[in-house]
Amino acid sequence: MLKSTGIPTQKDLETVVPSKERLAKGPVAIMECFEKIPCNPCYTSCKRGAIKEFEDINDRPQLNVDICNGCGVCISNCPGLAIFVVDETYSETEALVKIPYEFSPLPEEGTYVTGLDREGKPVCRAKVVKVQNSKAQDRTPVVAIAVPKELSMVVRCLSLDDYYSDNTIVCRCEEVTLGEIREYIRKGYQTIEEIKRISRCGMGPCQGRTCSQLILEEIAKATGQDVADLKVHTYRQPTLPIKLGLLVGGEDDE
Ligand code: SF4
Ligand code: SF4
Repeated sequence: MLKSTGIPTQKDLETVVPSKERLAKGPVAIMECFEKIPCNPCYTSCKRGAIKEFEDINDRPQLNVDICNGCGVCISNCPGLAIFVVDETYSETEALVKIPYEFSPLPEEGTYVTGLDREGKPVCRAKVVKVQNSKAQDRTPVVAIAVPKELSMVVRCLSLDDYYSDNTIVCRCEEVTLGEIREYIRKGYQTIEEIKRISRCGMGPCQGRTCSQLILEEIAKATGQDVADLKVHTYRQPTLPIKLGLLVGGEDDE
């Protein structure tokens, strides 16, 4: 498959993916370089000496995962766009994936893009955490995106299109689409409270547990704010769905 499509098989990947134990320790490079080619900038650019010295210029890179700290310097020096850095310790639910990116324009930090797998299929929505674009002419820009942790070894490219279309249902309780939310924001409803009142998002049985974050991200995107700076909506009891019997005092509340 690699020879005909350029896409590595699971067996190929098993030779370069570090152990779970190493991934749990922090960022590390994944050298997805499977062909014997006359090339070695990964080795010469790694000042930590994490890549074994090439005996032959056609050698494949051999990474010492215990020396590599995932700095990503080798990513921008690799002409084959074959190196990625994965940090599975980024957050409880997300991994940070550093990707070489040679398309123009570059994504902007703080925006959302679509994470693509090795075949170019969209697999998730991803936040652009950092964009590194060295002034040196022969360096590849590196984009760091936050992806769901279970996709850390799946996402290897990105598209600037948003993963969610206008038809995506944002609020399942009240059946409100992302297109409707975008329209409200365009009309000037730019806080979550305003959108809740005009659309009823967040007033259904789930009390906004699904839609709030998505709406906040849309407001942030449309208004150029950081999602962390936006006010969340007011949460009222009960914060979890409970049986009516509990409310009338018939059951013990654990
Ligand atoms: S990520 Fe940094 S430490 Fe690891 S191989 Fe690349 S340059 Fe070396
Ligand atoms: S620089 Fe990139 S393409 Fe060249 S040998 Fe190293 S990993 Fe492979």
